[in-house]
Amino acid sequence: MEKENLPPVSFAVLDKVLDLARANSLWPVTFGLACCAIEMMSAAMARFDIDRFGAGVFRPSPRQADLMIVSGTVTKKMAPVLVTLYDQMPSPKWVIAMGNCAISGGPFVFEGQYNLIEGVDKLVPVDVYVPGCPPRPEGLLEGFLKLEEKITGKRRFPGPVERW
Ligand code: SF4
Repeated sequence: MEKENLPPVSFAVLDKVLDLARANSLWPVTFGLACCAIEMMSAAMARFDIDRFGAGVFRPSPRQADLMIVSGTVTKKMAPVLVTLYDQMPSPKWVIAMGNCAISGGPFVFEGQYNLIEGVDKLVPVDVYVPGCPPRPEGLLEGFLKLEEKITGKRRFPGPVERW
């Protein structure tokens, strides 16, 4: 077949397939900041089994990860480390802000506080917010479903609103 007679490659379809693969094989970077990280670790254990969503392979290097779960308090001292780790992750990449500290500073926001970043979205773009102090592992799993929906445009399971 002559080159000019070849059918055009549909990059839109290829993108959809890649997005489906990405959404079902998220690799979080091993990274925890405070008490919320304990709940994140629970989500990876047998009872909650984050592997069901293809996301159980926590990577020790940001260069091998496409998801950062910011689970805990972000201090000003930690901020440049967090940004460096984020910058080292290859694109496309996503961020989940897990817990009230990561979302807004949580219970440590008061007049005159001098040590906290009041929301990790002041440092890096956040895709999904999971509220709670701490959120339960089920909350993080719901965050994964939201992120999958954001990546593929489709939700894998019906959400709580649709179900009840
Ligand atoms: S949101 Fe609550 S549980 Fe999570 S890191 Fe902050 S204080 Fe700890």
